[in-house]
Amino acid sequence: MQKVTSSTYGKTLARRDIPGKNGVIHMQIRLIQFGENRILTVESVVARKKQQVTKDEELYVDTAESEHIEMYLKAIWYIRERGEEVKVSSIAKLLNVTQPSVVQMLRKLNISQFVRYSKGSVEMTTEGEHIGKKMMRNTRLLEVLMKDALKIEVDEEMICGIEHHMKDMFTDALCTLLKHPRKCPHGHEIPRGKCCS
Ligand SMILES: [Zn+2]
Ligand SMILES: [Zn+2]
Repeated sequence: MQKVTSSTYGKTLARRDIPGKNGVIHMQIRLIQFGENRILTVESVVARKKQQVTKDEELYVDTAESEHIEMYLKAIWYIRERGEEVKVSSIAKLLNVTQPSVVQMLRKLNISQFVRYSKGSVEMTTEGEHIGKKMMRNTRLLEVLMKDALKIEVDEEMICGIEHHMKDMFTDALCTLLKHPRKCPHGHEIPRGKCCS
């Protein structure tokens, strides 16, 4: 690795060198354990060719944090829930990002085996589906919390900030407190947890 990004701890699951237009992309997938939470990070670094540093390369140099990954998996899960085909364009529209960034992320999710992405088709793996569903459960329980228990306006921006940091124990306790609601204020079904049976 030419440059090591943020985390230098945790367990490395996979390392891949992918030849890119402007040099080799070193990709590293790392699993970090925080209590009962597992966080997966995908880091990619471009080993630049010495002479040419173009703007194009900058696109590849990024650290996608676990929250970013969770957002994508939630979006893909939601598109599937609606019974629609998962397409790059529909993900881009839902997340309000460009199609090239979606493609870039799908490649990473494919390598880390959260989705199977090839020739424009996107399928979720069991692990990817688990995370997407969990995120959706968090979102919808928080919506119910705000509207029915706290009696405040549902604040999606705030929910987006909280939903990535909820341990299962917290989510199930919240679900129990709210009496295991089956629907969010928008009428969407809330995925069941261990507490709901
Ligand atoms: Zn909702
Ligand atoms: Zn429950």
